[in-house]
Amino acid sequence: MIVSLANKHVAIIGGGCAGLSAAAALVDKGFQVTIFESSPQLGGRARTVAVENNNLMQLLDNGQHILLGAYRETLALLRKAGVDETQVFLRLPLQINMQFTSEKSAFSLKSVDFLPAPLNMLFGLLCCRGLSFSERMSAIKLMLHLKKMHYQVASDTPLAEFLMQHRQSAKLLKMLWEPLCLAALNTPIEIASTSIFLNILRDTFMGNKRNSNFLLPRLDLSRMISQPIAQYIQAKGGEIKLNTRINKLKIEVNGFSLETKEGTSYFSDVVIAVSPARIDKLIGDIPTLQHALQQTQAFVYQPIYTIYFQYPADTKLPSVMTGLTNALGQWVFDRGQLCGQIGLVAVIVSAKGKHQQLSQDELALTIAEELNLAFSDLPKPLWYKVIAEKRATFSCEVNLARPTNRTAQPRLFLAGDYTYADYSATIEGAIRSGIKCAELIANT
Ligand SMILES: Cc1cc2nc3c(=O)[nH]c(=O)nc-3n(C[C@H](O)[C@H](O)[C@H](O)COP(=O)(O)OP(=O)(O)OC[C@H]3O[C@@H](n4cnc5c(N)ncnc54)[C@H](O)[C@@H]3O)c2cc1C
Repeated sequence: MIVSLANKHVAIIGGGCAGLSAAAALVDKGFQVTIFESSPQLGGRARTVAVENNNLMQLLDNGQHILLGAYRETLALLRKAGVDETQVFLRLPLQINMQFTSEKSAFSLKSVDFLPAPLNMLFGLLCCRGLSFSERMSAIKLMLHLKKMHYQVASDTPLAEFLMQHRQSAKLLKMLWEPLCLAALNTPIEIASTSIFLNILRDTFMGNKRNSNFLLPRLDLSRMISQPIAQYIQAKGGEIKLNTRINKLKIEVNGFSLETKEGTSYFSDVVIAVSPARIDKLIGDIPTLQHALQQTQAFVYQPIYTIYFQYPADTKLPSVMTGLTNALGQWVFDRGQLCGQIGLVAVIVSAKGKHQQLSQDELALTIAEELNLAFSDLPKPLWYKVIAEKRATFSCEVNLARPTNRTAQPRLFLAGDYTYADYSATIEGAIRSGIKCAELIANT
């Protein structure tokens, strides 16, 4: 059976942020939509997993996520799905507090609330602790230069190289730029793309100062993102099929056929919203998608490890979010203060590094020692759990060629963080890519 074009039915392969965003935008436009998700739950790389510990089920996010006030489309989509931003996020002015030992912080910077952007950050830099006066001035000069250049560079270079050309000292790189680069691009600063880093700075520091806020989820990721969006899609007539992997995508005379273990179904348009690491099987045989295939095959991936430590219930860290310096652990979150998971601490280790040579137990023990050094009087953790996302994000390197949402095959589109060329792998990039695919379908 081939569907007629008058009867448009869009298939979305993948129920992560990109697929959900495409579906939500399409049901708004009146399209019939079906999402196929291979796993038992939606959310993809931003999801909550149930983990068993001492016969108790615990809900943990696959990774601590940080959003920015500049995530305009993410916030709009959540609002549309009925999510009250003030309930689900802890909104903090941009701040970095790097700790090494418990005695004193190695570096701390807090953007101020009483000035517009980027002055809020510049004033924060001027007053920050842990840098010499000349280091503070060179960071401020660079920020002013970037603003003048509209956060654009003539040609892309590795971020570390760019920063050194702009007289940023080794300490500035270590305390300020490297933690920001890892948090924003999940790519080592020696190979990270300057252009993409500056795009994120631009959206963070141009416009409303609230754009530079950190938004820390107060709810688990699935309850905050995928569940409300899925409810919105279903309420508008969209269909969601979990546990349904698309094994084969074929081009038919007037549309596409999708093969699952249950059989074959036919659609007028298809949005492929799987991660680039999983796309080969779907597009490998499609001649018109060979260019996109070559681009994704050239991607390198970066891991993110999240190590959860459960401490006794009365354990509380001095702040919700702390950076660690001279340590394997990079960012530490007190999930008790953040989302009521009392005594639970999450530590992020981004990008490739020495930690990958350790077993999960060795990694957890090393980081537990680092936490003891950074926060005095920490009791022994009751348990720990390492969640290793080996291919968490594509490596956001210099001049990375990325596929576009529109493909050379009419009515076949690509959505996903990797297609939003302005950003590294982010929720916002994924959501914007889904919206773009919906616009392309509506205008075809
Ligand atoms: C640990 C970690 C921490 C992160 N931290 C942040 C952060 O702080 N801030 C931020 O903005 N971003 C962060 N990210 C990145 C962010 O999570 C991703 O950019 C975003 O979730 C990607 O969404 P996506 O829809 O493009 O892809 P995915 O989430 O990968 O979704 C693809 C979906 O397709 C499904 N699928 C695959 N193959 C098939 C098939 N054949 N048939 C049907 N379904 C299929 C998969 O199961 C998956 O659900 C983090 C990612 C990780 C892993």
